[in-house]
Amino acid sequence: MKIHEYQAKAILRRFGVAVPKGEVCFTPKEAAEAASSLGPPPYVVKAQIHAGGRGKGGGVKLARSLSEVEARAQEIIGMTLVTPQTGPEGRKVRRLLVEEGLEIAREVYLGVVIDRALGMPVLMASAEGGVEIEDVARRFPEKILRAPIPPGFGFRPFQARKIAYGLGLGAATEKTVKIMLALTRAFEETDASLAEVNPLVVTRGEEVLALDSKMSFDDNALYRHPEIRELRDQEEEEPQELEASRHGLSYIKLHGDVGCMVNGAGLAMATMDMIQLAGGTPANFLDVGGGAGTGQVSNAFRILLSDPGVKAVLINIFGGIMRCDVVAEGVVTAASHTGVQTPVVVRLEGTNAEEGRRILMNSGLNFTVADGMLDAARKVVALARRGA
Ligand code: GDP
Ligand code: MN
Repeated sequence: MKIHEYQAKAILRRFGVAVPKGEVCFTPKEAAEAASSLGPPPYVVKAQIHAGGRGKGGGVKLARSLSEVEARAQEIIGMTLVTPQTGPEGRKVRRLLVEEGLEIAREVYLGVVIDRALGMPVLMASAEGGVEIEDVARRFPEKILRAPIPPGFGFRPFQARKIAYGLGLGAATEKTVKIMLALTRAFEETDASLAEVNPLVVTRGEEVLALDSKMSFDDNALYRHPEIRELRDQEEEEPQELEASRHGLSYIKLHGDVGCMVNGAGLAMATMDMIQLAGGTPANFLDVGGGAGTGQVSNAFRILLSDPGVKAVLINIFGGIMRCDVVAEGVVTAASHTGVQTPVVVRLEGTNAEEGRRILMNSGLNFTVADGMLDAARKVVALARRGA
């Protein structure tokens, strides 16, 4: 689960990371009021969306007076912000963060992420912080400093000092060390999957603050953090993912055109590989679960079809605990309700597979029955191409 910048900053502040004074606002008038309580100008008006690169897209603006705050807020609220991370469709801005403007002497990058190759979190840092960090990581990977955080040991002060010296921070070293220790502790104690500060700034007055922050959390650990779960902003989430989570389905939207309905996460991954192998691209990951009933299957099918990018659907079910005839009934119910035009390829194996296939063939709907996984993938990719 992702959260907004202002929410991440509130969490980091609790752990001892200094952040600029600021307030979340929903209207231009509120923005001007918030600024007046922050002290003298300048101020910064920042779009709050679950994507980075806002500065480049015009979502972060400096204001030199209260009336400028109101004017910038008027421009940003309601705008569709397109950044390198939103995709071309952009995101509608509904919230702003108004902050005190700082005089920045240096910008560095700090981030804690899970390194899947090492199997543990790592702290990453770079002296070249700010809006071009992705570019730095790609072109000059040696400029990214890294320290592994072994579970059970945690991040040690000597590691923080080594990195801070590496960043060449001079008099700001000790403050940065404290912030690194606080950031890694925040990451660990909130079960985060990402805790990023970009940029961490050193001001003219040698203060060290998190000027921007992004955090996301492991969904499977959210039950341990009800106060973080409350920060969910449903307006920032993919509508199909939201609907799927209401029905207890594990669904992740992707950008291809072949919709996949599969039972079991392993089979779902294998199905996506098969689609790629056949030259296509999956539109989603969807695991309907091992013991789904007719209702569950029909909800899943409806959610798949509500994605306008889906040109063909592959239903790949292995009937172990799940019975193929139950799946077939769910699909037929959903298909007849939605009046589906999208071609559907079905591969059923296992318990009651024969009966499942018979239900589909007798439904009068447009199903293609496949013989094995590769055949299914080839057929569905061909149909998606024809539909595109
Ligand atoms: P992002 O583009 O979504 O990563 O948004 P950021 O919050 O990182 O802001 C982008 C850039 O705006 C920062 O790297 C800073 O250079 C600049 N910026 C943000 N706040 C201030 C501020 O208070 N003073 C100054 N001078 N620049 C700021
Ligand atoms: Mn940033």
